[in-house]
Amino acid sequence: MNANEITAQLQFFKDIGVESLSVGAVASLGAVPSGLDSADRSSDEGPPLQNTVELEAVRAELGDCQRCKLAPKRTNLVFGSGNPNAELVFVGEAPGYDEDQQGLPFVGRAGQLLTKIIESINLKREDVYICNVLKCRPPDNRNPEPDEVASCNPFMKKQLAAIRPKIVCCLGTFAAQTVLQTPAPISRLRGKFFDMDGMRVIATFHPAYLLRSPEKKREVWEDMKQIRAELFRLRP
Ligand code: URA
Repeated sequence: MNANEITAQLQFFKDIGVESLSVGAVASLGAVPSGLDSADRSSDEGPPLQNTVELEAVRAELGDCQRCKLAPKRTNLVFGSGNPNAELVFVGEAPGYDEDQQGLPFVGRAGQLLTKIIESINLKREDVYICNVLKCRPPDNRNPEPDEVASCNPFMKKQLAAIRPKIVCCLGTFAAQTVLQTPAPISRLRGKFFDMDGMRVIATFHPAYLLRSPEKKREVWEDMKQIRAELFRLRP
């Protein structure tokens, strides 16, 4: 890692709310990217096309979805975006206004913060895959309702089955409870790994919540460090 990259890394820490780093953490800055830097992953294990084809099949099955009452109100269906061969997938709740307008997940203010969070562990947004439990925006950003989840959740599961990531990071209460099939609060779920269908699943606070409660960024940073270490551990 050169000096410019270390400066950029420190800026990310600052942006996501980290105010101090131990000497050990600073020393490790140079060591981490050699294992996680996306540029080092050009050899890409696995069958690169297979996941793309499977994801496209999921998208085709979803089609011009009219399965629930959100369909008539949407501007765009927000399927998901990113690397079909990602080792790490982020799952959010549902599109907001900006996402509905653009047809892409996490492109508003919360999305910009998510990009910084991803970059804080030396990955680029293009390295990971990002999707939501719901593919259509609930009116006025209200909470998803059970019938909407029942219609949409099977597609999120199929996306994960197509990508087969090593790690799934659930963003916020709703995604965590839906993916992990538990009513437990995010305060109890976050920060630890669960095993699910051959994937390691971890939950952290939603970036939109971090915008309202910046003091929680420290815990998200702890969760991201765990993800970084686990990705490192799971590398062949
Ligand atoms: N919040 C979400 O949960 N998902 C998005 O795509 C944007 C905001």
